[in-house]
Amino acid sequence: MKRNILLNPGPATTTDTVKMAQVVPDICPREKEFASMMKQMRKDLVRIVHGNPEQYTAVLFCGSGTLNLDVCINSLLPADKKILVVNNGAYSARAVEICEYYGLPHINLKFPVDELPKIPEIEKVLQENPEIAMVYTTHNETGTGILNPVREIGALAHRYGAIFVVDTTSTFAMRPIDIEADNIDFCMASAQKGLMSMTGLSWVVGKTQVIQESATYPKRSYYCNLYLQYDFFEKTGEMHFTPPVQTVYATRQAIEEYFAEGEMEKWARHTAVFEAIHKGLSKLGFRDMIKREWQAGLVVAVKYPADVNWDFEKVHDYCYARGFTIYPGKIADQNTFRLCALGAITPKDIEDFFVVLEEALITFGVQIPVCYEE
Ligand SMILES: *Cc1c(COP(=O)(O)O)cnc(C)c1O
Repeated sequence: MKRNILLNPGPATTTDTVKMAQVVPDICPREKEFASMMKQMRKDLVRIVHGNPEQYTAVLFCGSGTLNLDVCINSLLPADKKILVVNNGAYSARAVEICEYYGLPHINLKFPVDELPKIPEIEKVLQENPEIAMVYTTHNETGTGILNPVREIGALAHRYGAIFVVDTTSTFAMRPIDIEADNIDFCMASAQKGLMSMTGLSWVVGKTQVIQESATYPKRSYYCNLYLQYDFFEKTGEMHFTPPVQTVYATRQAIEEYFAEGEMEKWARHTAVFEAIHKGLSKLGFRDMIKREWQAGLVVAVKYPADVNWDFEKVHDYCYARGFTIYPGKIADQNTFRLCALGAITPKDIEDFFVVLEEALITFGVQIPVCYEE
């Protein structure tokens, strides 16, 4: 099969064995065989973040990663309580939009997208608003690649009696997470990112006791209620509604490959890919959006050069035709593109990519090293 190198922020490049794992005999997902596979998968997902199985559980859903944001926000807020969103990027802004859509009381604590949230400001808001029952943030803001200090934010949330929900979609199964040590009550991901599987399966990993308590919280969604899905899994071993059958098979294979590669070995590979990206970029003179020491090690947001011949679409199409996918994005009012270290790729793939990128720049007459105004 043709191997494409996806440098976009997910879906990620997959192995052929994961692709092929989808090709299975037809099966009704209500069969015991299928339920037992999901049962094991729920345990494995808790294990990936080192959760104690007595205290943490995983609940699977059919949908893309945003579904998890929706599920946690609409399901885990008690009546008359408030959500504090620590917001320094597009994914936390999405959580704010979800609060708005459900009409939930919330505080949108905004920080600049290229800066870390300020812990004392978060504490001040918690002090002044004792009705905050949930603190929410994003681990790696995938638009910028900034890593948020979740352990510190989580410790604050707990000190003020709130639960801590973190969008870990772009770190789960890549950058090591220890759910308890990181003070996380709920985290989440979807199959097509860190696990390098297919789109269509997502999950929340969190405190079983809190999910059980949420049985009495206001119900704001039917399809996307965490307690309902959890309860159905516990009683029947199945998803409430039809699961993405083939994606579940692919994900089972991807989890096997995850444990075979090893948590630290996989993280070391992503880190080597990330460093190869930086090396290639600095050789061509490109500049990052975010301070290097604040980057999560998985996404590099690169500023567009100030060159009349720079045309992202043309460069993209040139690379795409040669098997490399790069991804545009606007951060505040700055045009950027992203190169990501997700997926089943190696530093050699990145070296090959930079040969193609340099060719593209030469072909379109973009000056090397690339230039910037300041
Ligand atoms: C990819 C991603 C999501 C989910 O996006 P979908 O398009 O719904 O899969 C959510 N949060 C973060 C941080 C992500 O990187």
